[in-house]
Amino acid sequence: MAKITTRRNFINSAGLLTAAAAFINPADIFARSAKTVVKKVSSKNLTLKWLPFDAQLTHPFTIANFTRTTTPIVLTEITWDGYTGYGEAAMPPYLGENQPSVMEFLKKVDLSQFDSPFRIQDILAYVDSLAINNTAAKAAVDIALHDLAGKIIGQPWWKIWGFNPETAPDTSFTIGLDTEEVVRLKTKEASPYNVIKVKLGRDEATDKMMINTIRSVTDTMICIDANQGWKDKHYALDMIHWLNERNVNMIEQPMSKYQLDETAWLSERSPLPVIADEACQRLTDVQHLKGAYHGINIKLMKCTGMREAREMISLAKALHMKVMIGCMTETSCAISAAAQLAPEAEWADLDGNLLISNDLFEGMKIVNGKITLFDKPGIGVTKI
Ligand code: MG
Repeated sequence: MAKITTRRNFINSAGLLTAAAAFINPADIFARSAKTVVKKVSSKNLTLKWLPFDAQLTHPFTIANFTRTTTPIVLTEITWDGYTGYGEAAMPPYLGENQPSVMEFLKKVDLSQFDSPFRIQDILAYVDSLAINNTAAKAAVDIALHDLAGKIIGQPWWKIWGFNPETAPDTSFTIGLDTEEVVRLKTKEASPYNVIKVKLGRDEATDKMMINTIRSVTDTMICIDANQGWKDKHYALDMIHWLNERNVNMIEQPMSKYQLDETAWLSERSPLPVIADEACQRLTDVQHLKGAYHGINIKLMKCTGMREAREMISLAKALHMKVMIGCMTETSCAISAAAQLAPEAEWADLDGNLLISNDLFEGMKIVNGKITLFDKPGIGVTKI
């Protein structure tokens, strides 16, 4: 008798399990275990929305060729089953994109053909196929989709990827080309940071004034970004030797991205690592740079977002190249997305949100100069 009861119980339980397997979406199981609120009435259509936004810069920003006071941004949202993922396209002029071109691209994106936000590879391959360039617009979709999928799973991306948040580097604080007085002021502003990134590349007198002014205030480690400003390889090598005596630890894009042979000559002789920024946009660029640069600066707006950035990191490591994670002037949305990858980087330059006065998100934090990642799901942001 006891045997029959046991058998009947077993049959009943087996029936229930089958029913459960048939009706429970794995996404809902993840959502429940992470205590995420699931709305009862919801749509399982992937819906993309966008909104233009102007990020106001706290200080006018000058690099080798121009000055600006705002950065155009387009904010994105992808919704599915009651969840919302946030994304962003940030467009410094040299990317060749603007708010109308991004919105025009986003109009072409039809996510209704995909039945699940977890088809990240298919969705982003489709988005990439819609146009040749538009990398920032593509990143706006990529970031929102990652945020959405992470929120449904209930975990942040650094954890989904298996990265160790303890290995995230210090972030640098950027000081642009400016007058002695402003540079001194900005150096004092940079005091909470352990690394200062200095924009050079105008002329010898200005470049040395910048460094001497900073060194009159602090001994903090410096990273150099010449933004392709040095024209001659011998001059560039002399400058690097001069900088090497002043607690500088790397040189980003010393010469034009088109001067690959000259840069290879320079990198071979440079006492400091030489990193590609303008020369390195997407995954396909990485292997061509091996031998000419010691490493690459990955930015989500250049490389179409988190998916490709992750692939670029893997390839760079396989080629024994160093990795830096950089940014544009962005809100904390795109900065927090990039920060998910920071544990795998040697250097991080994720200060774009600190340079704007009207941030819309709260996310990744800098604690004692170091990028600090939290357990918040997705890209880890909350709307302010
Ligand atoms: Mg750069």
